[in-house]
Amino acid sequence: MRNWVLHGLIGLFTLTLLAAAMWKADPDGEVNIYSHRHYETDARLFEEFTQETGIKVNVVRGNADELIKRLELEGDQSPADLLITVDAGRLHRARAKDLLQPIQSDLLTERVPDHLRDPQGYWFGLTRRARIIVYSLARVDPAQLSTYEALTEPEWKGRILVRSSSNIYNQSLLASMIATHGEGQALNWARGIVANMARSPRGGDRDQIKAMASGIGDIALVNTYYLGLMLNSTDPQERKAARQVGVFFPNQDGRGAHVNVSGAGVTRSADNIENAVRLLEYLVAKDAQDLFARANYEYPVNPAVEASELLQSWGEFKSDTVNLSLLGRYNLEAVQIFDRAGWR
Ligand code: FE
Repeated sequence: MRNWVLHGLIGLFTLTLLAAAMWKADPDGEVNIYSHRHYETDARLFEEFTQETGIKVNVVRGNADELIKRLELEGDQSPADLLITVDAGRLHRARAKDLLQPIQSDLLTERVPDHLRDPQGYWFGLTRRARIIVYSLARVDPAQLSTYEALTEPEWKGRILVRSSSNIYNQSLLASMIATHGEGQALNWARGIVANMARSPRGGDRDQIKAMASGIGDIALVNTYYLGLMLNSTDPQERKAARQVGVFFPNQDGRGAHVNVSGAGVTRSADNIENAVRLLEYLVAKDAQDLFARANYEYPVNPAVEASELLQSWGEFKSDTVNLSLLGRYNLEAVQIFDRAGWR
């Protein structure tokens, strides 16, 4: 085991030196990104940014947990200037591990609403996604739907599809419940959902929609962009399954639907701070927001930018404005509550 760790560390160190050597070729005009986003459109936007500013963009892709681990191991030697993740919970985790630094930028505070960024400027949302209820058009009358809380009512027994509690999107949703109602009610909610599940949790968000199409369960909790991805999938089965569900934005008479962000923070180790901030400002500007959000069927964070046609066809909705940094703060409690509730 120790050998394995040692080899891993040496490998990582060599890779870091290599990357640093490559990237040091152009010391003034570059920015180095560790990113959990991997969409074609992102690469296109980075190229356009380079054309506009002369600043070269280097990207290392990986999942956020691996990238955070890597930042920790590399410490001050890390070549990364910017960490991009697909949820606020992990950005908060990176901040808690002292891997990010605060940024003051008028453009960022103007273009990113308060609740979608860290209050001290450690990270900023880049795109928005809502965690909503989708329902079987054949078996559910949307007039029966109202709030996340109401999904614990007995009428939904054996009808709810949702992925495992190890997933950060569910942890963030429960964290928002803790922030709103406190731990006791959050625990009751989680227990109520477990009692109403159509099956024990398995698969990702898309698998819940597919299960519904094959007759298992009548409603599911999913992120908006997964439905967008399925409706535009090259797989005819996915398209067919997605067309059998309706979109319902919960809690519209109350705090609004739960939203999360794909976002970014400047790393503690950054050498190219100015370039990193410039890239962030560019990504939340009007032109880039449209494309950046569209790449993954997400909503823009910049209120001056309209959502894509597909998203607009689902209607306008009110979103919960709880500061997303709270999702990170209550993450551990959320994990513990899921455990107590028996949500696998
Ligand atoms: Fe996702």
